[in-house]
Formats: sequence, C-alpha cells, structure tokens
Amino acid sequence: GQLADFKPDDAAPATQARVLRVAVPTPLRRLFDYRPAGAPPAGGWRAGIRVKVPFGRRELVGIVIACAAESDLPLAQLKPIVACLDAEPLPADWLWLCEFTARYYQHALGDTLHNALPVPLRQGRPLEARTRERWRLETAETTALEQLGRAPRQRELVTLLAQHRHGLVTSAVSAQGFTRAQLQGLARRGLVSCHEEPLTAATALSGPLLATPALTLNREQAAALAALHEGLDRYHPCLLHGVTGSGKTEVYLQLIEAVLGQGKQALVLVPEIGLTPQTLARFRKRFRVPVVALHSGLTDLERLDAWEAARSGRAPVVIGTRSAIFTPLARPGAIIVDEEHDGSFKQQDGLRYHARDLAIARAHREGIPILLGSATPSLESLAQARSGRYRHLRLTTRASRHAPARLELTDLRGRVRQGGLIPPVIEAIRQALAAEGQVLVFINRRGFSPSLACHQCGWIAECRHCDSRLTLHRQPPRLVCHHCEHQQPQPDACPSCGSADLRPLGAGTERTEETLATLFPQTPIYRIDRDSTRRKEALDQVLGEIRRGEPSLLVGTQMLAKGHHLPHVTLVVVVNADAGLYASDFRALEQSAQLLIQVAGRAGRAERPGRVLVQTLHPDDPNLRLLADSGYDALAYQLLEERRLAALPPYRHLALARFEAVKEDDAQATAAAAGEALREWLAARGSPVHALGPVPAPMERRQNRYHVQLMLSAERRSALHEAAAWLVTRLEQESSRRVRWSLDVDPMTL
Ligand code: ADP
Ligand code: ZN
Ligand code: ZN
Repeated sequence: GQLADFKPDDAAPATQARVLRVAVPTPLRRLFDYRPAGAPPAGGWRAGIRVKVPFGRRELVGIVIACAAESDLPLAQLKPIVACLDAEPLPADWLWLCEFTARYYQHALGDTLHNALPVPLRQGRPLEARTRERWRLETAETTALEQLGRAPRQRELVTLLAQHRHGLVTSAVSAQGFTRAQLQGLARRGLVSCHEEPLTAATALSGPLLATPALTLNREQAAALAALHEGLDRYHPCLLHGVTGSGKTEVYLQLIEAVLGQGKQALVLVPEIGLTPQTLARFRKRFRVPVVALHSGLTDLERLDAWEAARSGRAPVVIGTRSAIFTPLARPGAIIVDEEHDGSFKQQDGLRYHARDLAIARAHREGIPILLGSATPSLESLAQARSGRYRHLRLTTRASRHAPARLELTDLRGRVRQGGLIPPVIEAIRQALAAEGQVLVFINRRGFSPSLACHQCGWIAECRHCDSRLTLHRQPPRLVCHHCEHQQPQPDACPSCGSADLRPLGAGTERTEETLATLFPQTPIYRIDRDSTRRKEALDQVLGEIRRGEPSLLVGTQMLAKGHHLPHVTLVVVVNADAGLYASDFRALEQSAQLLIQVAGRAGRAERPGRVLVQTLHPDDPNLRLLADSGYDALAYQLLEERRLAALPPYRHLALARFEAVKEDDAQATAAAAGEALREWLAARGSPVHALGPVPAPMERRQNRYHVQLMLSAERRSALHEAAAWLVTRLEQESSRRVRWSLDVDPMTL
C-alpha cells in the first residue's frame, strides 16, 4: 500500500522477522513481501538492508523497508529472497529522506531509492568495497638499505618511501616508475607494510583548518555570519539575500569554517552550470580538508567514492548539483543552497523533486541550519523570509567598489537591427571595446535564427513532430527543433509557393556572432552556448581565455550569463528582454527578471564600473520599468501581491497530472475520466481542493504525442496531498497502456 499506511507497530522484533517488506525498483507505488532466507545480516534484519529478490523473471536489488510478522498473503506463498547484500543498513537519515521524497512527490518508493543510490550500489556492489593500498617503510632507512645490499631499484624505492612518513599509495609509487612487484618484494622482507584504506582517506587534520585566511567581512557580511552563528545547533532556515557580487560565497565559506570547527560536515548545492572548476577551486583553496564534488562529469565509481566519503564522514565538505541532496552525511552540520532560485534544482522528469525544498525538509529533520543564497530569491523563499519563517539576511553592497549597474532600457521599435542589435547599442559596444573593456552580449537563443520564413507567402518552417517552429542553424547548416531534436536540411525554395526568397527571422547566438565579426573584425569573439561547448573542456578553456582580460566580445546564452565571475566585463547587452513579459506561464516574469538581473550582474565586478543595455520592444511595460528603476526586490514584492490575488503559489499549492498519448483522444479521455472521478471524490469528502481541466498542455503536440493536463490546487498542502495520493492510486489501477501519465507536485511550469 501507500507509504502513509505503514504502521510502525507492524514491525516485529528483528530476530523473529518472518516477512521482509521490500522496496523494489519498479514504478509501482507499493512494497513487496518476501521471506528471509540464508543467514540474517550481522545486526539482524532492519530497514535499509539491501537484498537481491526474485521479481517476475528477473532478480532485482531491493531495500528492506520494514520487517513484519504477517503478510497479506499466506507466508507459504511468499518467495524467499535470493541473497542479503549488506551487514549494516544504509544510513537511516538517507532512508528517511527517500521515504519523505517518495511520499511528498507521490513517487514509487522503490524507484526513488534506486534514483538516490550511486549506480554500483543499485547493482548490488558491497558498501566500502573500494580500497587502495598504502605502503609504509617499517624500519629506519639505513637499516633497510643495509639489508638490501646492492639492489639499486629497491634501494631507490626505500629512499622514496623514507621521504613519506605516512607512506604512499600504490598509484603514487608507480607514478615514480616502480612496480607493485618491487613493493611486494620489500614487504616479504618485512621492510615495508601494506594497509588497505578507503579511496578517499581521512586525513587526520593537524594544525590549522584554513589553507588560506578568510577575508575580513564587511559590516553586512559580518552581521549575516553572526546571525548564522546563533543557530548552528538547530534547524535555522536563513535566506542570504545579497546583490550580485556582494560576497555571499565568502559568507558560505565562513559558515562552513564554523561547521567544520564543530567537527561536522557541510553540504553545498549549486546549480547545474554553477559547479565550475573556479567555484570548486574557491572552496578547495580555503580549507585544508577534502572538498568532495558530485557532478555529472564523474564516472559511476568516482561518484560512489564521493558518496562513501560523505557517508563515512571522511569528506567534511560535499559540494554538488541537484542530486547531491541525496548524499548521506555521517555528521551533518549545515546545508547551503547557492542560487536557490535556479530552475535546475527542479528535476523535470521521472522523480520530479525540488532539491532546495528537500534541503529544507532534510535540515528540519536533522536539526541543522540551512542557508539559501541568491541575489534574486524565488518568490517562495522571499515569502517565507517576509513572514519571518526564514531569517532574512541582506547584503546590499558589493565587495568591489561599484554597485550593480542599472538596467538601461533601449527602445527597439522602428529601428534597423543588425544581428539583433540597433545602432546606438553597436556604438556603445564600440566605445567599450575602445576603452579596453570586454562586452557580454546576452541572447537566450542558440542557433542562427529562431525561424525561417518565406517572404512571398508567409510560410514558416515548423517541426513535423511538435507544435513548434524550427530553428535555423548555420554551423553546420540545418533546421533543428529545440523541443525534440528533430533535424532536417534547409530547403532551397518555399515548400508552399516555390519562392526562393526564404529569410531568417530574428537572431540567435550564431547570427549575432556573425554580425559582430563583420562589425569588429579585429576583436576576438567567444560564443558560449550549448552548441559551442559540447566538449566538456571547451567551456573551461574559453572562460580561461576570457579571464586573461583582453578586450573581446562574448556572445552567449544563460550558460554564460549566470554565476561566472568575469572581472573584465564593462558592458552587458541584452539583445531582447521581452520573452518573459507576456508569456502565459505564471512564473515566466519572475524567471526572466531573475535572469536579467543575473546577466546584468556580470558587469563591473572588478576595478571598473559596468553598464547594462537592455533592448526591448516594450520600454513602457510597467513590470520592466519597475525592474529597471527600482530593482528586483521591488518587482518581486509586487509579483507576490499579484500571486496572492490570483491564488497562485506560494499562496496556494499546486499539483499537475500530465497525460500523453499518440492519439489526442486517448489522452483527453483518460484525463477527463480521471478528472471526473476526482471531482466526485472531492465533493463526497467536502475537500477544499480544486480540480481544473483537463486542458491541452501549452505545447500540446510534442514528439508526435499529445499532452493534456489536470491541475489540482489547494491552500493547505495536506489536503492537496490527500487528493493527489488518491488520484495516483486510481491512475495506477485504471491506466491504459496507450496513455502515459505523471504527477508533478509543486510544478515549475504549467
Ligand atoms: P556573490 O557570491 O555574492 O556574487 P562573491 O562571493 O563572488 O559574490 O564575491 C564577489 C567578489 O568580492 C569576489 O571576488 C570576492 O573575493 C570579493 N569579496 C567578497 N567578500 C569580500 C570581503 N569581505 N572583502 C574583500 N573582498 C571580498
Ligand atoms: Zn512561400
Ligand atoms: Zn520537434
């Protein structure tokens, strides 16, 4: 049954467990009962022990969630497990977080656990199985050399080991040109000892914690840190609301210092594009203890090693992207979420969780402080801070001399554009380059042009699989759908009227780059978007060149606009600020305001002041004006008021059931039947939950599948969850194979 149905008193004492309730990696929202078999684990059967179980025709790795004396089935009908994989259970806090996640997001527990485990552990690999050998000289160097006589290589090896009091690992020894056989030879003579140790070894810290001294905090930073110090031993949610470049990272570092000083661990979550080598280097440079990073570039085994290091407490600082929230910690001390407003913390498919929200739940459960940092906080966090549930810590000044630049709105209407840029803006670029500055041109569209149109008949190239237009790319030339990745050659003539007069409409990064190259042939141009940085090292390489500080042009999407410290940028140009102004999604305005401020924040971060030119067709739009004249906070508070009046999050909670099928009617019929049943159920219970729809999704046809959705909304989370749980149970029972469905709790987009 549902997780909420678990009754703790079902659990029999471990020794006499007759039934194991196992979460198995399937999409089914239920547990499966098995009989124990073979020797029980050393500490008895407990929740968190991995077992191999027969499942259909396969064997799967599952996790024991409870032990019971009875099952709904006669005991004789239960299958025995195949094997017990662990002597000790997986960490209890980790298990709690997974159970909470499954329940909150209405996701199958088995699949949630599976997602939250490193791949080798999903496959049944033992915990802590990865070790390395460390070799240590056991006698004085002179004694060893005497015994060895004239074996030159072995003598050199002894001399090498003698220089390392704590010994050397095999890889370090072979890096010096010695073999493992030579080490074993010395070990057989009793001159050298060999110890197995975990891959990330605990380095017993002697001496100071800091490798480089902390900066002297300014008044606001110091006040923020003092507030954080007050709540180190309890759940203490804080919002560090500081303008771009105000030194939030320095506050994180000094909070971590305090946490480490207590012998505890800190977990830092950063957005997907935020975990750059520069960010990591900043953390590693400060502390003399290991800073373990969890990011998409790791191999499965590296990830497992990092996970183990966190779980065992060997890694005092763990820094990672979204999924790092599921990293177990031996001695949790604090959680920090940098750029807490960032959309990449929400997983948009499969297990649709929000890492920031889980971080709050986890900190609450573990009784530790949590710090959310942003220059542009989400309306959710801002509302919590304003109501006093989160402590509101503000940093209003920059560490460098210059305040963040004001947004200067420039009117696009009726003006000739070249590569998306109007003459006065091109002139401003010219001046900035002449003054030896770097210019960042932000355009949130990759490719050459967002559409290709026939000048004769108005035909526009559209994706044959989606309700969307095709983007024209020139490098190499082709039309691409950014929703389904469908590609096709660029036509020579209009497929509708035969005219050869096909023209690109609007500008993307490639086109702006091309225009700037003809306007400024002497200036280096760096384009940074998903296409130009497919190779992993490409971005780091380009950022390295940019940081050398030569006058240059940077053309990029949000990949370039967020998080990076680009000290030489003196002018930021936003090619078009209008995308989010009139979008139908209720979060669009919040998100585009956040992006604009983040982009603008790249200007003037070092010696010289910055300038930000924002091109728009709507220079009189009241929201844009408010943002430009009064800043993000003013707009955010106004948007909060609008959300309250419109009964939208954070004042009301939403869940979205999405349905998709090859045939529009199938999706529609399933959704309609579910909606009707749900409304009946709500009415019968007098539930305050509203059910809306089904309605077509904003892009109804995607990849040849039709999407419709049903929205649930409620003032109280508990009511919403009750209804969502009921709906999910019904859909599991009634769904047809032709219709795929999913539930998104606290959806980011509707
Ligand atoms: P944020 O994370 O708020 O955008 P950063 O932490 O990146 O800001 O800080 C911006 C710059 O200011 C960095 O170069 C940082 O080293 C510097 N800085 C931060 N705090 C101080 C301080 N107290 N004194 C001097 N420089 C500081
Ligand atoms: Zn035509
Ligand atoms: Zn498509």
